[in-house]
Parts: sequence; structure tokens; C-alpha cells
Amino acid sequence: MRRVSILGATGSIGQNTLDLIYRAPPGAFEVVALTGGCNVAQLAADAGRVGAEIAVTAHDDCLDDLRAALAGSGVEAAAGQGALIEAAERPADWVMSAIVGAAGLAPGLRALEQGATLALANKESMVCAGPLVMETARRHGATVLPVDSEHSAIFQGLVGEDRAAVERIVITASGGAFRDWPLERLSQATPAEAATHPNWDMGQRITIDSASMFNKALEVIEARELFGVDPARIEVLVHPESIVHALVGFADGALMAHVGPHDMRHAIGYALNWPERRALPVERLDLAALGQLTFRAPDAARYPALRLAREVMAQGGLSGAAFNAAKEVALDGFIAERIGFLQMAEVVEEVLTRLSSEPGRIDARFDLDTVLHVDAHARDTAWRVISERAV
Ligand code: NAD
Ligand code: MG
Repeated sequence: MRRVSILGATGSIGQNTLDLIYRAPPGAFEVVALTGGCNVAQLAADAGRVGAEIAVTAHDDCLDDLRAALAGSGVEAAAGQGALIEAAERPADWVMSAIVGAAGLAPGLRALEQGATLALANKESMVCAGPLVMETARRHGATVLPVDSEHSAIFQGLVGEDRAAVERIVITASGGAFRDWPLERLSQATPAEAATHPNWDMGQRITIDSASMFNKALEVIEARELFGVDPARIEVLVHPESIVHALVGFADGALMAHVGPHDMRHAIGYALNWPERRALPVERLDLAALGQLTFRAPDAARYPALRLAREVMAQGGLSGAAFNAAKEVALDGFIAERIGFLQMAEVVEEVLTRLSSEPGRIDARFDLDTVLHVDAHARDTAWRVISERAV
């Protein structure tokens, strides 16, 4: 019996995690806590169905609705940031970190502090504070398991291998919604057009980040932090079919590829059952029917986010926290149609430039308060830059 909690249970990753729990043999999992936003009908339905101890909405003003929806279910209801932290701290063997954005950092750290295995979908925590996450895990004897499909693929490719023999890591990218658009058209792209992914069915924010390649930029930094590899050894390869999720290259020239359908339940299920492999309800690929897989180098002019990720890794310190926060605000600005699609990278670059020129801002100490402080400052700066540029 594995005791599990899901932070961000109402989102795309959270719902896929619950789907696997519903399909698991009875008694395999016991659910401790589920958290979500204001989608309290979904949160309450799942919490009742799995018999969770507690359901938490991140928003205080949704508590009454959550209480009403849970009436008679025996599930405790709570709301707000404190309750979210308390849910993450409840003893559990395995905690899914599937809140979107930097908001996932503090609850994830609390789960690690209680020694849980943290299944990490929330890549933003690694980008903002990778050294803090890994150090917290080490100090508390906790484990971080990647859930991002590329990082799960890399993790699986490293099982039983000598890390010193790893020569390179290749992360694939679909190229997103606009990979075949002429460059001139990109400035006119709308949020609705950016929110459709050619292969994967994911939350709105990560789907738009896929179109801009900011998602891949975050993933390159995430790989650097999770696996401790030199940034120069991490490559990005455009692979429109999204069947090869990542490759690990070794000193003898061998490349180990992870091949699978585009279904997040593989990576989630691998982490859920780790260190065992159990049957999962994902499609079995028919490679003959697929016929061919194609690859190409990413176009630097089309995807400035990849260059920015390299600059962030070279700068180090808290630049990842600034980068992620600026990216989140730029995305909000694009969704609100205050800036265009191509301006997202311009805003992020400008925020990085401004914060880098402030003495002691980026090379400060690495603790949670400082990370959150840089995060808040980068958000303010990004909104200022957006106001200056808004159309
Ligand atoms: P989503 O938007 O579908 O769901 C986000 C969840 O977080 C929801 O439960 C929402 O209520 C909750 N939430 C949002 N803001 C919050 C806040 N401020 N405080 C507390 N809770 C909050 O997102 P998603 O697509 O499931 O992605 C979740 C995470 O997993 C992201 O970090 C994303 O980058 C990562 N990820 C997602 C996929 C995918 O297939 N969707 C793949 C790889 C990685
Ligand atoms: Mg991914």
C-alpha cells in the first residue's frame, strides 16, 4: 500500500495521475491529500471517490463551495496557502508535484522535508531553485523522480549506467503549434492558436510554452539541475512526431533512445510504481504503421527562448528564478493580449538584463525566501516592461 498525495490534482497531470490510481488494483494506493484551485466540483468528486483525508483549494474564497461539495463525504476541506503547505506536509510515501508555475516550489519542498518521494511534474521548481530542491531531498533522505516526459526518459536511460560515461543528453521538442509557420506570421499569432498542440494534450500554459519553446528552455535547465550535467552536453532536437522523448549518449558512441506514445500516463505511471515497472494503460506503438520518424536542428531565430536558457545556465545563481518568473508574467501578458507572441522572449530578456545589473540580486544566497523575493521582483519588473511595450 503506497500512501500518495497529489498537489494540483485538478489539472492535466493531476487528472492523469488520478486516472492511473482509479485503474490500479484495489488497495494499491491510499490517497492522503488532493489540492486544486477553484474547480471545487472536480476536486470534491475525486476526493470523495478516492476517500482522501483532506481536499484543499488554493483560494480562500472557494472554501464554502468546497465544503458544500464535500458535505457528508467524510473528507476534510481546507483553503489557502497555509492549508496547501499543511497538505504537502501530511505524511505520505509519494507526492505528485503538479501545481503549475513557481507556486509549486514551497509545497514541493515541504513534501521533501517529510521524506516523501516527490514525483516532479512542476519543472518550474527546478528552474527557480534546482540546487535548493536537490539539497533538501539529500538532507531529508527523500527522492526526486522526474515526471516531465523527457526527463523520465533520461532517468530511465540512465538506470544501471555509469554517470561518468554520459557524453550527452538529447531532449526532443515537437516544435509546437507554429513549427511550420513562416517566421513573419509569428508576430500575429493569437493565444488561441498557440494553445493547440500538434501531439500532446496538456494544460493551456505549457501548451503555449511549447509553441514558444519556453517549455523546452525550462526543460534544458531542469535536466541540468536534475542530472547535474554540464549545459554544453545538453542538446535540443526538433522531432515533430514526439515519439522519441529523449536520448542519452555515452562515451562509446551509443545513443539510448526512449520511445513511446505521447501519453503522460507513461511517465506518471513509471514514477508512481518506481522502482517497479507495472502494466500501464497506454497505447502500444506500432512502428511499422508509423513508418518514419524525423529530426531536425532547432532554428535559433524562431526560438530565442533556447538561447536565453543557455545564458541563464551560464550566469547561474538566481537567474533561473528571474527567468521563470519573467516567463510566467510574459505568458500572462500574451494570454491577456497585452503583448504579441514574439514579445514574450523580448520581455524575459529585458528582465534578465535589468536584474543582472542590480548588485547582489542574482548571485544572492540560495534559500527559499531569497528565491521568492527574486521571483516577486522579476514579476514586478516584467509587468513594468510590459506596460512600457504594450500595444
Ligand atoms: P494545469 O494548468 O492543467 O493544472 C495546474 C494545477 O495547479 C491545477 O490543479 C490548478 O488548480 C493548480 N494551481 C494553479 N495555480 C495554482 C496556485 N497558484 N496555487 C496552487 N495551485 C495552483 O497544468 P498541467 O498542464 O497539469 O501542468 C502542471 C505542471 O506539470 C506544470 O509545471 C507543467 O509544466 C508540468 N508538466 C505538464 C505536462 C502536461 O502534460 N500537462 C507535461 C510535463 C510537465
Ligand atoms: Mg516535457
